[in-house]
Amino acid sequence: MKSAVEQARMASVRACPHCGSVRFVKDGHANGRQRFRCRETGCARTFNALTGTPLARLHMPEKHLENARLMAAGLSVRVTAERLGVSVPTAFKWRHRFLQAPLNQQPGTLSGLVETDETYILESFKGQRGGLPRPPKKRGTPGRTRGLGPDQIPVLVAREREMKGTLTARIPTRSAASIAPVLAGRVVPDAVLVSDSAKAYRKVAKALNVSLMQVPANAKHKTQGTLHINNANAYCSRLDGWLDRFHGVATKNIPNYLAWHRIIDREGNGLSAKRFLEAAIG
Ligand SMILES: [Zn+2]
Repeated sequence: MKSAVEQARMASVRACPHCGSVRFVKDGHANGRQRFRCRETGCARTFNALTGTPLARLHMPEKHLENARLMAAGLSVRVTAERLGVSVPTAFKWRHRFLQAPLNQQPGTLSGLVETDETYILESFKGQRGGLPRPPKKRGTPGRTRGLGPDQIPVLVAREREMKGTLTARIPTRSAASIAPVLAGRVVPDAVLVSDSAKAYRKVAKALNVSLMQVPANAKHKTQGTLHINNANAYCSRLDGWLDRFHGVATKNIPNYLAWHRIIDREGNGLSAKRFLEAAIG
């Protein structure tokens, strides 16, 4: 059984994804999917509606919509595996395959007042065998330092106050050299960055050639007028709270989890399995 998304996608197949030719025919089924064959001499290759997407070679397509539903609900890999009737490694593989396209789905532009803030995710080598830079520690062990520290991975959050478009990205450090390239080409020229009092943002604004408003370090002024980063701040809290369920995520997978949360936060209660699957197909 094909999902509605896949059916819609099948109807939209207009050319061979290998050579671009419009001369192709239906050619049976493979892995439960309609197969097409290119009629172009010199190509003659087969493809399906998902060829060229991250879900192209995943088996059991009849379970993909359910996987999307479970991911939209943010369920653990163990529960997901159980409900799908697949192994934990398969559920884990699907999770990250489904996040491959969302990984690059960030707002194309950021305009108006653009609030920035950072949050931190504890460094984790979960699931990684050998070659650890330090002895592994037990899950849930607090970091050497609270807040800032070498084992806290910074995540940049830039959120439009009006349009609510949100960019999230893992950054190597809180320096301007790390932050500016992430925002470059997205923050429109007449946007205004709103940040905390960190000096780095002065350099960032200069590099991007945009205006900057900084919330003074003095806490009692934080929510006065338009000069605040409450929206970026609230996003950080929602992200932190959502991540708690995973009991630590491998540092190398942080971008995937950020992408996952962007979809959930953006769509809110309106997030359906179909919508999540569309995001996964890219
Ligand atoms: Zn072709």
